[in-house]
Amino acid sequence: MSVNARQEKLNFQAEVKQLLDIVVHSLYSNKEIFLRELVSNASDAIDKLRFEALSDPALFETDSSLSIKINFDKREKTITISDNGIGMSRDEVVSNLGTIAKSGTRDFLSRLTGDQKKDAHLIGQFGVGFYSAFIVADKVTVITRRAGLGIEHGVRWESIGDGEYVIENMEKQTRGTDVILHLKTDEDEFLGDWRLRSIVKKYSDHLNIPIQMLKRKEDEKPTDEWETVNRVTALWALPKSDVTDEQYKEFYKHISHDFEDPLVWTHHKIEGGNIDYTCLLYLPAHAPFDLWQRDKHYGLKLYVQRVFIMDQVEQFLPNYLRFVRGVIDTTALPLNISREILQDHFSIPKLRSALIRHVLDLLDRLVEEHPAQYAAFWKEFGNVLKEGPAEDFANRARIAKLLRFSSSTIDDQTVSFDDYIKRMKAKQTKIYYLTAESLLGAKSSPHLEIFRKNNVEVLLLTDRIDEWVISHLADYEGKALQSVAKGDLKLDEIADESKEERKADERKEQIQQQAYEPLLKKVHTILDKQIKEVRLSHRLTLSPACLVRDEHALGVQMERLLKAVGQEVTEVKPIFELNPEHPIIRKLNQALDEAWLEEWVQVLYEQALLAEGGTLPDPAGFVQRINKLWMERIAS
Ligand code: ADP
Repeated sequence: MSVNARQEKLNFQAEVKQLLDIVVHSLYSNKEIFLRELVSNASDAIDKLRFEALSDPALFETDSSLSIKINFDKREKTITISDNGIGMSRDEVVSNLGTIAKSGTRDFLSRLTGDQKKDAHLIGQFGVGFYSAFIVADKVTVITRRAGLGIEHGVRWESIGDGEYVIENMEKQTRGTDVILHLKTDEDEFLGDWRLRSIVKKYSDHLNIPIQMLKRKEDEKPTDEWETVNRVTALWALPKSDVTDEQYKEFYKHISHDFEDPLVWTHHKIEGGNIDYTCLLYLPAHAPFDLWQRDKHYGLKLYVQRVFIMDQVEQFLPNYLRFVRGVIDTTALPLNISREILQDHFSIPKLRSALIRHVLDLLDRLVEEHPAQYAAFWKEFGNVLKEGPAEDFANRARIAKLLRFSSSTIDDQTVSFDDYIKRMKAKQTKIYYLTAESLLGAKSSPHLEIFRKNNVEVLLLTDRIDEWVISHLADYEGKALQSVAKGDLKLDEIADESKEERKADERKEQIQQQAYEPLLKKVHTILDKQIKEVRLSHRLTLSPACLVRDEHALGVQMERLLKAVGQEVTEVKPIFELNPEHPIIRKLNQALDEAWLEEWVQVLYEQALLAEGGTLPDPAGFVQRINKLWMERIAS
């Protein structure tokens, strides 16, 4: 196809338009970051070129010295940021600058409130990149050409940020991208050599690509000599003592496109062992808005001997640590490695386990030395870390140590297994837990009654994946994890009783057993289809009845989770337990009227089902039964 200048006026995707408005209004108080964002994009474009050129050196054309150039023109009131990176084709310009590819964008935008401060914070998490140009510019022109395409494939894009842009082809001699900002009238402050240099120093000093500006005479008149403004060092390759906290933070913002400071970082240079590498790993302060999007790719930036190789390399970290950002630089991989080869390279498992260790060490350190930071981390990423025991068998015990739960005595997901063990009763050998849909539901569960009475703490697991997490843990430091809603409860573990008292109780239980035998038989007949067994309960002090699962059966939560993802679940009937001390149960034991008994048993069963968060097969029938019982009461 011959190239023509074909000028088109196109609309931004609706989300872009919305985002642009918000960016301009909410980020105004920190407007100089536009330069960091555009320089980050330029540096990414250069990284991409380097990577693609590994397999196709012709992409360098005649110019292999890579750099970013920043220039300004006082008279025209423009700032131009140029790179000789990968550039964009016409189609790429349309899709990269006219649409937002991130899934979940609409959802994200609907969370914005109109409150400038809050929105600025949210927008920061989202990352606005290129669009930050419109904070200071009322018109932006992009001139670009993709590396490897002929000079006639240059593209000119221009917009005043009002919902439309114009795009046309033009000749561009050099590959790469120029972003020209036509500054708003009151943004002259950025048209100064000193000001621009100091912004570059502040945000981009440590980028390992030279950022250049023209040498200027005393009156700021430009010469035609370019000089490098930043230090051009790979930050991670410096000794820790040479890097300030500020520099670590700014570097994080460049690689993560996050506006906020990271929570913490860990920096290691490992040499002379069985594998050489340097890594700089960060924990973000907040979860990105799309942490739960399945198609979102995470991972580290990979460098080999300081040469950028690939972005978002997932092989180095397991899924449960997908929130970690950072770089890994190693001599253990060849420079010309492709994604496919990387997959199976023999060094990957070694690097991976080393990186996992660094992250877990960092988390341990937070727990020990900065508990408030660990709590902040847990709040943001606890649910991701919980995937660990299932995914990483080798580190199961270490990860288990880092898990936090609510309990029957502490509400706010801060209880570790170790805390729990410290508070265990002298005779107690198991860690008790209860899974439920919500904390409120867990706390009023009938299964807790006997534990409350005996002051035994129970962990309350109320996140959807908790039961699944627990199913991969079986025990912690030799202590079995025991669901209070499963199996036969051994009272002697938890009750504060002397041997004699226990003996007396056992005698009482025997007598009760005989006395209730006929009722148990009748109940079993009535509920034959719904339950596996009916028995007298040791767990209840306040409720008349509850449902219990077999020791090895799936828990209720797990059953629901599996059903929700469309898995076949073989239904296992529950055990129905009755509280022999409860007035209703006593009354039932004396009942002569079979129809009346049936009504009550049905209601008790349905109540037990509701109490464990289950749904009733016949809710309207339940309501009728309850009302009928009330009517009898009113009538009597
Ligand atoms: P992000 O960088 O977070 O993807 P941006 O809105 O900043 O989002 O940029 C959108 C896309 O536009 C980038 O992913 C990139 O593909 C492209 N892009 C932006 N700036 C450049 C540039 N200087 N050179 C090449 N491509 C660029």
